[in-house]
Amino acid sequence: MSVFRIAIDGPSGAGKSTVAKAAAKKLGFVVVDTGAMYRSVGLYIYRKGLQPDDADAVVPQLENINIDLGFSEEGQRIYLNGEDVSEKIRQNEISAYASKVSAIPAVRAFLLEMQRKLAAEHSVVMDGRDIGTVVLPDAELKIFQTASVRERAKRRYLELTEKGQTVDLETIRKEIEERDYNDSHRAAAPCIPADDAVIIDNSNISIEENVAMIAALYEMRR
Ligand code: C5P
Repeated sequence: MSVFRIAIDGPSGAGKSTVAKAAAKKLGFVVVDTGAMYRSVGLYIYRKGLQPDDADAVVPQLENINIDLGFSEEGQRIYLNGEDVSEKIRQNEISAYASKVSAIPAVRAFLLEMQRKLAAEHSVVMDGRDIGTVVLPDAELKIFQTASVRERAKRRYLELTEKGQTVDLETIRKEIEERDYNDSHRAAAPCIPADDAVIIDNSNISIEENVAMIAALYEMRR
């Protein structure tokens, strides 16, 4: 059985997860949200009370971390040592932990293996930061999806307030800028477009239009 792999990379809040989920549903593919994996490692480190940028403290913990993905009609569920943490990893403080642990090469290597295995077994829409450049450099279709910082901050703000979290738009904007900087300047797998990625700026297009563009590109390449 041959698989078709769609890599969607881009900065925080560019709607990658939403679009990946919808595209996977439309095409009958499995969706893999790799950010959720980094968030799960971040949540574990947070609960242990460790500093997420202290590699000496984080790396020995990896052997205690077991991550499983479950696939349902509604998309992906993620389990950390058997506990469903799909919602808990979305808390705002876990974002910074995820970003910091993701700069540690051993953390990336730990998750890379899992990500490649999933893509070898299923046709996937995999979203993250380094899917087209590092995880699946031979992916049949690579998308780099982005939007202006202003638009991304607005979206994150709405997402968090809808969940009942009290947040400030300006703080969110600063956090996004900070995460963009960390993610694109780190030595290990920075968030940059692959040479052969199609760049989609969705500041002014709808989710449906964004998904339709990806589906059309898939039809051209399959
Ligand atoms: O996409 P999401 O915001 O859930 O990702 C959380 C963090 O995980 C990001 O800020 C980024 O630092 C990291 N990440 C990564 N590589 C990926 C996916 C996410 O470094 N493939």
